[in-house]
Amino acid sequence: MAREEVRTVCPYCGVGCGIILEVENDRIAKVRGDTAHPANGGRLCTKGSSCDKPLLSDQRLHQALIRPQRGNLTEGLYIGLDYEKVCFVEKKFP
Ligand code: SF4
Repeated sequence: MAREEVRTVCPYCGVGCGIILEVENDRIAKVRGDTAHPANGGRLCTKGSSCDKPLLSDQRLHQALIRPQRGNLTEGLYIGLDYEKVCFVEKKFP
């Protein structure tokens, strides 16, 4: 499968450096700075150049979690939802 380039922005800080992700077989094969981006001109700091690591982690959440009761941090009270459905959940705060 050919490598595809995905132009995006670093998720870590407000500088918003341009990033190009090289994707092969639905996996990020390489992260590099976008030389055409005005904020960073192709340069990335350590965080930006390793921004693919959390995406590849086996500890990454596979669904959105909703805490229906504010102030209660008990893990068992979180409700898991598919990412596709989470945009349609009505916000209910007292
Ligand atoms: S690469 Fe570094 S400086 Fe640029 S947005 Fe990411 S964290 Fe910020």
